[in-house]
Amino acid sequence: MHRYRVLTAAFLCELVTSTLLAQGKLGVDFEPKLIPIVEGIYAYEGPLAIPGRDDVIRTNSLIVLTDDGVVVVDGQDNVDEAERMLAAIASVTSQPVRYLINASPHGDHVNGNAAFGDVEIVAQERARDQMSESRTPMPLPSVVYAERMTLHVGGKTLELHHFGPAHTVGDTVVYLPEDRVAFLSEVYFNGIFTSLGDGFAAHHLEVLDAVEKLDADWFIPGHGLIDGQSAAELRAGLEKYHANVKAVHDAVARHVAAGDSLEKTMNEIDADLGEFAELPFYDFLKQRTVEATYEALSGREKSK
Ligand SMILES: [Zn+2]
Repeated sequence: MHRYRVLTAAFLCELVTSTLLAQGKLGVDFEPKLIPIVEGIYAYEGPLAIPGRDDVIRTNSLIVLTDDGVVVVDGQDNVDEAERMLAAIASVTSQPVRYLINASPHGDHVNGNAAFGDVEIVAQERARDQMSESRTPMPLPSVVYAERMTLHVGGKTLELHHFGPAHTVGDTVVYLPEDRVAFLSEVYFNGIFTSLGDGFAAHHLEVLDAVEKLDADWFIPGHGLIDGQSAAELRAGLEKYHANVKAVHDAVARHVAAGDSLEKTMNEIDADLGEFAELPFYDFLKQRTVEATYEALSGREKSK
């Protein structure tokens, strides 16, 4: 039986929320940026931050320009930020946005959907299910797929892959084989501690194995730094992120196998994780990540 529990409180997004953004205060100097990747393809860093923190998580989008319209992957944390991104896109093309791909169903990637107006929204089918249950009403995907679909737009080929649950129940990886670019959305946070609050640590490792087999030069993260990073640095960041997910999974699995309580696991996890416990946002993300992973590995795992 395919059944997933919806953990509304588990989203990085909902924890972060845009409280400060709504007040127009980031607490830190950060300007959203459009970052050229290869010809006609940009990444965009949006200003996702946590109240009281000096550093910025960033919510990233992918922008694909074609002669037959623009494809945007991931729509920012709120309508104002999505509009700001659309204005940045309009500064580099006169083409309208035709497709919005919601690669993660979490709020910080879909709450801006309404800014896009009359576009085709595409998502993995379980991502759409989860969005339809959101407390924030939003335009929902009109096109869904299960495991894989391909979009051909203005001479560009975009493969949409769902390799299984990872950060969310319905993650999409967007791969442009001819451009050798893969946008990983929430399957990859660059330089930030992992967020596994939906409890899919084991599946996430399988998804990362699949992603790393893609024949790409550029692996673009859905959160964390892109600006100034080379393709090799982003690839190294992905490998480090993979090691981070594995470290959490393996440490919690050891505690579960030993019959340790969640409390004991939580008390010892800093030492277990070593260098990964020093990553930005560790203190903010560790509780949900360790709890959800502990629950999943101690037998209350959602069936895949
Ligand atoms: Zn997110």
